[in-house]
Amino acid sequence: MPAENWTSTSWQEKHAAQAIVYPDEAKLESVLAKLKTLPPLVTPSEIERLRHQLAQVQRNEAFLLHAGDCAESFDACTHQNITAKIGLILSFSLILIWGARVPIVRIGRIAGQYAKPRSSPTEKIDGREIMSFRGDNVNGLHPDDRTPDPSRLLSAYWHSTATLNYVRGLLTSGFASLNSPRDWSLSHVRSSSLRKEFTEITSGLASALDFTRTIGLASGLEAVSYERGGTRGVLGEVDFYTSHEGLMLPYETALTRELPIPCATTPSIPVSRSASRSVSRTRMPSDEPQYTEPSRAHYNTSAHFLWIGDRTRQLDGAHVEYFRGIRNPIGVKVGPSMKGDELVTLLETINPDREDGRVTLITRYGADKIDAHLPEHILAVQASGHPVIWVCDPMHGNTQTTPAGIKTRHFGTIISELTSCLRIHAEQTSRLGGVSLEFTGEVDEQGFSVTECLGGSMELAEEELGLRYQSFCDPRLNFEQSLDVAFLVSNYFKN
Ligand code: PEP
Ligand code: MN
Repeated sequence: MPAENWTSTSWQEKHAAQAIVYPDEAKLESVLAKLKTLPPLVTPSEIERLRHQLAQVQRNEAFLLHAGDCAESFDACTHQNITAKIGLILSFSLILIWGARVPIVRIGRIAGQYAKPRSSPTEKIDGREIMSFRGDNVNGLHPDDRTPDPSRLLSAYWHSTATLNYVRGLLTSGFASLNSPRDWSLSHVRSSSLRKEFTEITSGLASALDFTRTIGLASGLEAVSYERGGTRGVLGEVDFYTSHEGLMLPYETALTRELPIPCATTPSIPVSRSASRSVSRTRMPSDEPQYTEPSRAHYNTSAHFLWIGDRTRQLDGAHVEYFRGIRNPIGVKVGPSMKGDELVTLLETINPDREDGRVTLITRYGADKIDAHLPEHILAVQASGHPVIWVCDPMHGNTQTTPAGIKTRHFGTIISELTSCLRIHAEQTSRLGGVSLEFTGEVDEQGFSVTECLGGSMELAEEELGLRYQSFCDPRLNFEQSLDVAFLVSNYFKN
């Protein structure tokens, strides 16, 4: 059902946390007018397919992997980076499929994840108080380039388009089947018992994939993918969806379009072209052709999935108002400041019809806080009867700063929150439906991974953080550390 008293601009009556004030409003208006005319990046049928698959995650028939950069940058929009990112997501999901024996729904933080919320609107650099960097679609990282420039929104659209186009190209050219577990070097794993364990998993996985190829299935990944050897996926050989935080409401609105809900999923009402005919009349083969009036809905066509950040989820705020009216499946970040009854009111607001697959709760408390909050949140949601997917983001509550002033996260702390999350869900007869991670497969010219998070099987030390720290936002797990997480989660489900 369409949201009551909602328009794609009704959010403008509410307070928008983290809103950007543009000095040149006329330029902003002309950029938004242009964006409104540009083609959608994703289609309603792709969005509906994701809704359907998320409903399956909710019913424990699939597992969700949500992953990618904290923030994309325009400069990092290169074929190497995109290939590395997609490659890592595919490798990670293969390991999960192996352990959990369920299909994986893959949503990348990609093709639009540019805007960033900030704890402080300004920061001090070289004695100057300047506006904080708010992401490439707002201002520049360089201290002299911090004035918000509306043309960056158009640039964001073009970079999203280029990224998505390349991803579609990769996934329709056999890339997924090239990602073989045999190619994963495990030489970084310093502990020999862990290396033995990982090797057992990869060889089991490789044999299973060889088997599916031998019996004639085109791609091993496709065979164990969403459709289990069935039809092609959303962006090619496998299903892959895009997402970003829906932070910049003017941009999101410009790409929100009222479109027909694709027939296959629409419980549409048959309407005769002849006004005198009763709409409830049973259609007979000899009848004149019936015209089926499709239902229409507001789709955000900039990404398949959007989420509300922990800093912009105020019940009476502009973001919640915008999100309640769009048809896309949506995420909500849930941190330690969320109260149980507030969470239920939020669910009532964004999913009053209690539609399956509509809401994903992405919890991010911190390893030392999860026990104090998650049980209460699960109980409140269970008592309300709201259908949700629970996803663990073990990254955002566990950011720390080293004595040298480097923002990092420790692999052990990330695993600790993830493990607690799995345990708490089991204790509460709930179930974890997925993970949300910040990771990257990016490497430097010599092929070395980034060094932004501590620990993992490569035992990355504090003094090594400076070697290849490339994130200008939150620290990401590198390729090796990400596979460590995949092996751990995979093992959990296998045992
Ligand atoms: C993020 O996902 O990058 C982020 C800013 O998260 P949160 O809103 O949970 O802090
Ligand atoms: Mn982040």
